[in-house]
Amino acid sequence: MPPRVDDNLCDGCREVRAAAGVTRCEAVCPGGIMVVDPQTLKAFCREPLDCWDCCACVKACPTGAVAPRLAYAVALYGTRVGYEGGPDGCRWTVTGEAGPENFELPVDTGW
Ligand code: SF4
Ligand code: SF4
Repeated sequence: MPPRVDDNLCDGCREVRAAAGVTRCEAVCPGGIMVVDPQTLKAFCREPLDCWDCCACVKACPTGAVAPRLAYAVALYGTRVGYEGGPDGCRWTVTGEAGPENFELPVDTGW
């Protein structure tokens, strides 16, 4: 399933876009399907059925505007996944029937 973009958090990567001509989520999407609406300057997935669920856009977004969604075929009903990134690493939280489980990774996102 394509990620969900919170329009209240997406700022269209104004500074990055002005300098590089492309937003962070556009730059990292392997399918080239994350785009920014030129009218609203908000990002969205223009081809939901072609999304690979790779979550590259989730990790690249500096404002936390992009949230992953799990396909029903790979998750129990009601299971959610969350992402928090920072300069010292990131944390994925998977919340299912047994409650939340955290996975912390000391990675540099490069941004
Ligand atoms: S999850 Fe991956 S394939 Fe899907 S929109 Fe984001 S970057 Fe593109
Ligand atoms: S990376 Fe985040 S803030 Fe930048 S355009 Fe994409 S969703 Fe919006």
